[in-house]
Amino acid sequence: MSKTLIRQVRVGPELYTLEIDGGTIVRIDRGDRFPREDEDGWDAEGLLYMPVLADMHCHLDKHFIGERWRSRRTIDSLPNQLQREKELLASLTGSVEERARILLDLMLSHGTTRIRTHVDVDPDIGLKHLDAVLKVREQYRGLMEIEIVAFPQQGLLRSRSYGVMREAMQSGADVVGAVDPGGLDRGIEPCLEQVFGLATEYNAGVDIHLHDPGHLGVYTMERMAEYTEQSGLQGRVAVSHAWGLGQISESESSDIGHKLREQGVSVITSVPIDRQMMNVPQLDSIGVDIRVGTDNVLDAWSPFGSGDMLERLGRLAERCYWVEDEQLLGAYRFGTDKPLTPKGGDAADFVLVNAMNLEHAMASAPVREWVVVNGKPVAGRRFEGGGRR
Ligand SMILES: [Zn+2]
Repeated sequence: MSKTLIRQVRVGPELYTLEIDGGTIVRIDRGDRFPREDEDGWDAEGLLYMPVLADMHCHLDKHFIGERWRSRRTIDSLPNQLQREKELLASLTGSVEERARILLDLMLSHGTTRIRTHVDVDPDIGLKHLDAVLKVREQYRGLMEIEIVAFPQQGLLRSRSYGVMREAMQSGADVVGAVDPGGLDRGIEPCLEQVFGLATEYNAGVDIHLHDPGHLGVYTMERMAEYTEQSGLQGRVAVSHAWGLGQISESESSDIGHKLREQGVSVITSVPIDRQMMNVPQLDSIGVDIRVGTDNVLDAWSPFGSGDMLERLGRLAERCYWVEDEQLLGAYRFGTDKPLTPKGGDAADFVLVNAMNLEHAMASAPVREWVVVNGKPVAGRRFEGGGRR
């Protein structure tokens, strides 16, 4: 494969030429260098280099994009909402595979190349959703990294999903999920026993949706940290939402924060603006691993959401009153696994946008002009004249 030069790439205030070989950035030179005869090349026209994004909470199988409009009702109780969601999902006309591809293409067009998706599993739907998402994962291999959580949305105990969850783990899911062991399953210990039992048996991670409020949520997280220690799963367990962390005092938040950090339990926030959010600056200063996900995109739970991680990271910065340069860059780090600036030897996976610098991009969430994976443009507004792959 011949080398490719991407000229006039903005990194901070300067323009650089990136030399790409076999999906890797092999060299970075300040200034403009034209390709030799044996090299390909294209001009980035001064667009800013931005690392690709990682979205740690989404549901490829549950959005309504491409369907007719579905009306929602205010969520009065979780069991009622779960029943309504079942009915709405059953009314969709597109296949799960189509749905997964639609959302993946949308996320890719926003510059997201790594995702963690929760996929519904229960005795009614069996492995139907999972099989479709596993198939689509193969279709996107080399383009997007897709981690799959087997997710008993209707409650692991409540919907008697242990058997089908085990089949899901055997079929290739990476992470064991659950929802509100206290509030929904009404059995914190048996729920966590099943979840951590499956995770240990299949050498998998754990990621639990925890909407349970205040001290119920915090108690569940304490028990999760203890189960993590007993199972030796440090660094592989996550709490999604963790709304309870936003409803306790600063000293209580500090106490649970230290317990989570000691066991390497991550928290994944979707940066809610309709309720109190966990104290991200405090938990970050304690050293808790914090990740961000976009979660809802036009689904049974909410008509809002764009699947755009950059927009969501900007919302995080705004909610935390972060306006200083270092704080804006800090917010970006919650949404990427990659270094913020390129160097030789890095994978050639990046996004090009019209912005002065990364701080400006964080604050303005500009249109993604090019999304480059493995050294090649794969999406973005200028990709084949418009947007998605
Ligand atoms: Zn979710």
